[in-house]
Amino acid sequence: MNDLLIEIVSLFQRLDWLSLLDILLVAGAIFAALALVRGTQAVLLLRGVIVLVISIALLSSFLRLSAFAWLLRNTLPTLVFAVPVIFAPELRRALERLGRASALFNFGAREPEILPVIEAVAGAAEKLSGLRLGGLIVVEREAGLKEYIDTGVPLDALVSVELLVQIFHVNTPLHDGAVILRGDRVAAAGCVLPLSTEPSLDKQMGLRHRAALGVSEASDAVAVVVSEETGTISITHNGRIIRRLDGHRLKNILVAFHRPRPSAWLDWVMKAFSRSTLRTDKGSAEAGKERAAVEKR
Ligand code: ATP
Ligand code: MG
Repeated sequence: MNDLLIEIVSLFQRLDWLSLLDILLVAGAIFAALALVRGTQAVLLLRGVIVLVISIALLSSFLRLSAFAWLLRNTLPTLVFAVPVIFAPELRRALERLGRASALFNFGAREPEILPVIEAVAGAAEKLSGLRLGGLIVVEREAGLKEYIDTGVPLDALVSVELLVQIFHVNTPLHDGAVILRGDRVAAAGCVLPLSTEPSLDKQMGLRHRAALGVSEASDAVAVVVSEETGTISITHNGRIIRRLDGHRLKNILVAFHRPRPSAWLDWVMKAFSRSTLRTDKGSAEAGKERAAVEKR
């Protein structure tokens, strides 16, 4: 017992700033890894692996199963190679997040004016709903949607209500599939999106709604769906759907989801100093409420 105490004390005596930093870095890395997988299916997997490793280690050390211990010693390191495969979606999301964080330093890039785009999307959704035309409009945000854009017909045209309504007119070549918006342009139409496999989705909602939900699960994009059957306007984000919207609410939600980038922050600061933010402030408070409503659903 005394020996153990002495060993612990000597361990602390040997501790210097560098080893403290070392420990903090390791703890930070483990914390980041756990924070990353929290709330995903990877948690269950991780728990399974931890339970397996601990129980096998206890079993082999207590019972002194030397052959079994040898097998473990040689197979456990191969798990390291399995990690990138099993956690591919989580790793991808983490790297994307890192990329987004580094975009904060991208002060030079100017962003196209997004409000006219939002107004065009909301206007088109209302028109499509009135005409009982099915529509699916995806707004790209920070995660690139090139893989889905490539499945459609490239357009690279300025966004307008007229163009969006025209695209979704039945019996036209581009009406099937999704339109993807990038900045202030329609990147492509007739795009194929990944379908959500969410089991609890209302049976009334078919493939168009599943595709909208699917792209919002696979990226940070926001998708607007207009139902051909009911004329209902819905929006999806982060694997969630809000239904039965009108043009005004849709616009508020789209504004809420458009997070301004640093160059836009600069504009905002400029506006704040020129004392013309009253309307913007009211708008953003309303947008904040809408956003909170989505997060709750
Ligand atoms: P609605 O309420 O308009 O009927 P829904 O959710 O019931 O919509 P469906 O009736 O199955 O969906 O709609 C089929 C249409 O959805 C297809 O014609 C196609 O345009 C679109 N769609 C289906 N799958 C995809 C996909 N993977 N990616 C993009 N669009 C898709
Ligand atoms: Mg249908």
